[in-house]
Amino acid sequence: MTGAFVTRDGSPWTPHYLTAIDGATCVGCGRCFKVCSREVMHLHGVDDAGEILGICTGEDDDFDGELNRMVMIVDHAGRCIGCGACGRVCPKNCQTHLAADKLAA
Ligand code: SF4
Ligand code: SF4
Repeated sequence: MTGAFVTRDGSPWTPHYLTAIDGATCVGCGRCFKVCSREVMHLHGVDDAGEILGICTGEDDDFDGELNRMVMIVDHAGRCIGCGACGRVCPKNCQTHLAADKLAA
């Protein structure tokens, strides 16, 4: 994807899109979800075997006792506007962001 990106005053701006979250490093804190205005990622439950159980619907959701841990998954990458807010609040540095001009067309 290429193109000229600018801020409201016309200054050059390069979006850095969220492309992935390392599920082995993510601690499921939810900070990135809270600062994102675009519903790009969602918290998912994971069982003992590492299988994804589904989207967590609330703090009490234990997936019928199958829940081992929670992990954030990028499930709507196309919604990202590349603001970078999620990366700034992540305590584990487990996100990958890619500059708009580096994304394949
Ligand atoms: S870069 Fe911005 S829009 Fe994209 S996922 Fe992160 S917080 Fe959301
Ligand atoms: S802020 Fe980082 S550690 Fe927390 S849920 Fe998001 S990706 Fe995972």
